[in-house]
Amino acid sequence: MRIDLHTHSYRSDGTTSPREVVLAAGRAGLDVVALTDHDTASGWEEAAQTAYDIGVGLVRGIEISCRHRGRSVHLLAYLPDPSYPPLRNMLSGILDGRTQRLPAICAALRAEGIDIEEAEVKKQDAEATATGRPHVADVLIGKGVVDDRDEAFERYLAPGRPGYVSRYAPSLSEAMIVVREAGGVPVVAHPWGRGSEAILDEPTLGALAEEGLEGLEAHHQDHTPRQRQELVDIAARLGLIATGASDFHGAGKRDHELGCHTTAPDELERLLVTAEELAKASGRDTPRMLTS
Ligand code: AMP
Ligand code: ZN
Ligand code: FE
Ligand code: FE
Repeated sequence: MRIDLHTHSYRSDGTTSPREVVLAAGRAGLDVVALTDHDTASGWEEAAQTAYDIGVGLVRGIEISCRHRGRSVHLLAYLPDPSYPPLRNMLSGILDGRTQRLPAICAALRAEGIDIEEAEVKKQDAEATATGRPHVADVLIGKGVVDDRDEAFERYLAPGRPGYVSRYAPSLSEAMIVVREAGGVPVVAHPWGRGSEAILDEPTLGALAEEGLEGLEAHHQDHTPRQRQELVDIAARLGLIATGASDFHGAGKRDHELGCHTTAPDELERLLVTAEELAKASGRDTPRMLTS
């Protein structure tokens, strides 16, 4: 069983349709894939139809943009009921924040001498529910200002760079509570990616586990092999599920090919049992994993 629990389509900042993500998962020999676009479930239906058509297992998820101690932290929510009003409100608050910061990002980039208009970004994100900095990066690539998304973040879009504009993000604790109430399973995405090791150390992860965190994404390209092993060990000590995934973004992210990291079948089983329990406790009409 090959299981990849974190991918993006063009509903957020991936570059292919939800259908194409699932088809590509089948071609990559995956038995189970999770579609986890940023802050939206708008790709679920199309992904589910495709998964049903070709017989690939599908876990429906959302990667929620949160904040913890002033830093951006991503929370994967697996199998929540997206119609639960507090979850819907939280996601629309994040999406509104995304839309509202766009003019400010464009103005900041113009101040750097780059000729960029909001309309160009809108064209770039035509299919997106969640517009992000990667869409701005793609416009900069198109103009020849940078070669790839990484360079765009490094020079302009990362915190502390001239084109960075912050936006609303719920606290990690707040998001975990709402996800659980929606019957979903909260798992921290790439906990130690991009220098987050200091803010999500073991005591902090332990405190989050007490608050209802259920898992850690240990196997991820943004972690070194040592970090992956250490996160697996921490998950074991804290009784958390340890997952692994590609964080596939189509052509938008290099070295994140489908299946480049995977989740062990036992860990998926634990996740599904937890989902079942949380769904029951919530009384919500949550999605199930679609099985092949
Ligand atoms: P946003 O949604 O605007 O907050 O942007 C977040 C997205 O940008 C995520 O998909 C990240 O993978 C990507 N991202 C964040 N920081 C960087 C970085 N330094 N280099 C490349 N991509 C990044
Ligand atoms: Zn992304
Ligand atoms: Fe992420
Ligand atoms: Fe992601």
